Amino acid sequence: MKHESPLACPASAGARHSACPGLLRVVAARDGGLCRIRLPGGTLTTAQARAVANAARTQANGIIELTNRANLQVRGVRAGSEHALSEALMRAGLGPDAGVPGGEGDATAYENACVADDLRNLMLSPLAGCDPQACFDTTQLVAPILDVLQGEPRFAALSPKFAVLVDGGERLVALDHPHDIWLAAFAHRDGVAFAFGLAGTPRDGALAAVAPAQVPALLRALLHAFLDLAQDGERRMREVCAVHGANAVLQHAWRYLDFAPLRDAAVCRWRRASTDTAARLGAHALHADGSGYAGAQPPLGRIDAGTLDALASLAQSQGDGTLRITPWQGVLLPNVAAGAMAHTIEQLHTLDLVTDPAAPLARLIACTGSAGCAKSRADTKADALRLAARLPAHAEVHLSGCERSCAAAHRAPWTLLAVAPDCYDLYARDEAPAGFGRLVASHLTIEAAAQTLAQRPRSTPDA
Ligand code: SF4
Repeated sequence: MKHESPLACPASAGARHSACPGLLRVVAARDGGLCRIRLPGGTLTTAQARAVANAARTQANGIIELTNRANLQVRGVRAGSEHALSEALMRAGLGPDAGVPGGEGDATAYENACVADDLRNLMLSPLAGCDPQACFDTTQLVAPILDVLQGEPRFAALSPKFAVLVDGGERLVALDHPHDIWLAAFAHRDGVAFAFGLAGTPRDGALAAVAPAQVPALLRALLHAFLDLAQDGERRMREVCAVHGANAVLQHAWRYLDFAPLRDAAVCRWRRASTDTAARLGAHALHADGSGYAGAQPPLGRIDAGTLDALASLAQSQGDGTLRITPWQGVLLPNVAAGAMAHTIEQLHTLDLVTDPAAPLARLIACTGSAGCAKSRADTKADALRLAARLPAHAEVHLSGCERSCAAAHRAPWTLLAVAPDCYDLYARDEAPAGFGRLVASHLTIEAAAQTLAQRPRSTPDA
């Protein structure tokens, strides 16, 4: 939310003029301060979950959002409580290793911590390290990748949104998310290799591949190439690729490497299967003994502090003591025993989380809307709840209060873009390079949008 002003981090007065929320940079929104907690890899221990719940309850309005980058956001931070909130979260180990800055007068320490926090946009599969189908345990790469991102002063120039995705071949992955750099493990004739690409390039296949041990060096080279080529105002890899082409970025990166990435026929043929929506929710066995994971989604990606506390208790009693936040604004409890699965799903229902992929609220996402964002032309969250009661089977819909599309990094099958309160334009996903897709109908109320969707075959443009 670039229009919002930083409240807590004195770094805003220094060299780094970012208004992107962070752990130490609480920004003002219509419903109070907004604090973003980056979770490299999406993992949260039960102690950390309880710390977030406690901080949200005592320093803010108790509402916690799960984001499409598998992060958390604390909403409604009270004026004057920003520093205490950031400090509590840092002490829970939810910030960068830079440590807890000594006080608001220590501007340099704050600036360093803000930058280190901004550079922790690393996404893994929610099943990283616990899916026997995967060909590589990517949790091993978290520390080396963070070391690269935070290791060179030059990388402080990267946008707080600059993101890296690493996929180990698990059955759940978010490759439709337009990351700046993505890597995906696959079985190559010489052993496991990581195919990689830049932003959405290439659409099929990969640019090249490297061995697992070469991933940190490759990432470093790509970051240098990006910064060498980026002109003023170009903050994301897609912008640099649009000007130079992805292959030129790769060629430029080679000057920072002492090895050549693989570019053979196996790499060119490589394709990653997309994730089945049904695999995100409900009970799924991963091992021969029936143990596996339970997936759930809070309505429109929001929970309250009490629900997060209860999820932490459930993960502790039925799982392995961790929660995995997903890029679909949901949560997974990994390593649930077969005998505990039915009870776990029942408890998730009790907490009002959705576990059925066919449920309307599993097929709806909405941005903050006018209740929390001054940019929004409509109350998208409330409208999404009204649409849920009318949503045709199979329809997957994204409601966005403006063109920024904060709730969806991908293009949804259907998008309702707010024009005014309870007034939306409807777009169907197509192959256009940018935007929400093809305009299907204009100025619809929620009731009219539901009727229009119901008149479409299977109510999905891809069917
Ligand atoms: S997409 Fe929604 S939350 Fe994001 S800036 Fe627009 S109105 Fe605000």
